[in-house]
Amino acid sequence: MKQQTLILIKPDGLVKSLTGNILTRLSETKLEIAAAKMVRVTPELAREHYKHLQDKPFFNELIEYLQGKLHSRRKVLAMVYWGENAIQKVRELAGATNPEEAEPTSIRGAYGRITSKGVYENVIHASSNESEAEREIKLWFEPDEIILDAYPVKTITIEKLSKKVWS
Ligand code: UDP
Ligand code: MG
Repeated sequence: MKQQTLILIKPDGLVKSLTGNILTRLSETKLEIAAAKMVRVTPELAREHYKHLQDKPFFNELIEYLQGKLHSRRKVLAMVYWGENAIQKVRELAGATNPEEAEPTSIRGAYGRITSKGVYENVIHASSNESEAEREIKLWFEPDEIILDAYPVKTITIEKLSKKVWS
């Protein structure tokens, strides 16, 4: 079954210069990159992304982590990967949520750590199932930023739209 999945290289992954390494690991899956961009994460985006964890004691710390406030690196690399069984393949490569429990050869097992405040800095995000993938991809990307018809779209007309163009 062909699937799409959202992958984020979180701020700790960027600070540790792991981008190339992670992309190489991901290429082992033979999945295709359907979208990629650098994103400066707002508090609203971080909260929406992790809204399933809003009642957890580590929620505020987690939101700061995703924004890059713990790493002075206020960006993440957001990507959509597409292909056969994409969600499970990337989750397996990422490893368990807790870096101490993750397979040592997985991305999180190799590069993750637990902070003194108890947050799992685990380098990478990967969607956990199809409905989460859809919710997350629609949250992080506009339809035109993805090189495939990810989900159904509609066209709307926006009047008096102002946007930046090259000057
Ligand atoms: N997290 C944490 N402590 C926990 C559970 C989660 O710090 O006990 C963080 C960790 O960075 C994780 C993120 O919250 O990646 C999202 O948690 P989720 O349970 O969705 O795990 P994931 O899908 O990322 O494996
Ligand atoms: Mg999750």
